[in-house]
Amino acid sequence: MIGIYNQNELEVQEIIFYGLYALQHRGQESAGIAVTDGSSITYHKGMGLAADVFDEKTLERLKGGKAGIGHIRNTRAGERMYANAQPLVTRYKKGSMALVHDGKLVNAHLIRNDLEEAGAIFQTSMDIEVIAALIAKYIDLGLEEALKKLISVIKGAYALMIMTEDRLIAVRDPLGIRPLVLGILDDSYVIASETCAFDTIGAEYIRDVKPGEILIVNEDGLTSIQTPVPLHSSLCIFEFVYYARTDSTIDGISVYMARKQAGARLASEHPAEADLVIGVPDSGTTAAIGYAEASGIPYGEGFIKNRYVGRTFIRSSPHIREQGVRIKLNALRRIVKGKRIVVIDDSIVRGTTSKKIVEMLRLAGAIEVHMRISSPPVRFPCHYGIDIDTSDQLIGYHNDVDEICNIIGADSLGYLSLEGLMKTVEGSGCGFCRGCFSAEYPIEPEK
Ligand code: SF4
Repeated sequence: MIGIYNQNELEVQEIIFYGLYALQHRGQESAGIAVTDGSSITYHKGMGLAADVFDEKTLERLKGGKAGIGHIRNTRAGERMYANAQPLVTRYKKGSMALVHDGKLVNAHLIRNDLEEAGAIFQTSMDIEVIAALIAKYIDLGLEEALKKLISVIKGAYALMIMTEDRLIAVRDPLGIRPLVLGILDDSYVIASETCAFDTIGAEYIRDVKPGEILIVNEDGLTSIQTPVPLHSSLCIFEFVYYARTDSTIDGISVYMARKQAGARLASEHPAEADLVIGVPDSGTTAAIGYAEASGIPYGEGFIKNRYVGRTFIRSSPHIREQGVRIKLNALRRIVKGKRIVVIDDSIVRGTTSKKIVEMLRLAGAIEVHMRISSPPVRFPCHYGIDIDTSDQLIGYHNDVDEICNIIGADSLGYLSLEGLMKTVEGSGCGFCRGCFSAEYPIEPEK
């Protein structure tokens, strides 16, 4: 997600487009931009990557924005449809609003039921539509009070942006599960999921949006409202393992440094006798450099990545996911042939990708393949918006490490311990969710 409130003569639609481009790793199913000229909201959205959905003509149509928000979406199987693309643009009795959301609520179905009982009609399966309906319900309290009431009712993970005709609003859930950052471009405030979007558009990072904070930007500037929060926040640790881009900083922690340290710790927890350390690009690369430095084994580039293929983990159909690995990666025969290889990946979720990686390395002539994973086994589902739905899908739920090693066909397998992973983000001052590794969830789904 990215949003901007334009205090200069900026081309809002272009800034948002390039911001989405930088954030494309967070979702590849749909993209959308909504802008307001101060009195009405215009939008365009569609299925596919940002570059597929927008061209010069569609961006031209969005010109003249006083503010704008953009979104790229990662959907679960069964939710992939145009109606679920964001921004959601809707009318309520005080005007129009456009909304975007990253995360997942754990009580959206209960609120939806209550609203439906009271006569509300929903057109999508998105949590954001429930959020829009609640804001409309409470709006007579005034916008600020309506947002506070909203936060007291919805539960789960949400980084949220709402744009009305004349203001831009950002909200981060009280646990701070999903990231959200505030920056400035000339005199215009920008809010985005990750700092890498700021670097791309030339904005300066100011700070992270705090858990439970509401930011409102309008003609008069920026207003911050802090709502009550629990004692400990619960930033998603998986952002550092896989989800965020390596050049981002979240809640003061460099994703690059966390990944490099994870690799170094992995080398001391699971050493290997080998000739070369390689990483599975992109999120395994930095950990591989850390492993190589700590172990003294040379680092090399063992895979070439086709940059124009989406991330396989994000693709939800098993067939597409399986094909995706081969389309995306090619082992460098000249580099791996005749060598004992340590290959570093960030995680093993379903196991299909790891199996293909080992196969590809053996086909390219590697004589031994030692798989090392820079996070613990993913054994439990995520309730907060990452596409790890049920334990059934997870190779780590059904199998121990030796069994997984056998299934993927590696000579050895070692995972970073949870303690080791948590050390990579030590000193950050925030708490972490690690539910998919340990089943310790900061907030349970409501039945
Ligand atoms: S369960 Fe895992 S993926 Fe989901 S928010 Fe927690 S750490 Fe992140």
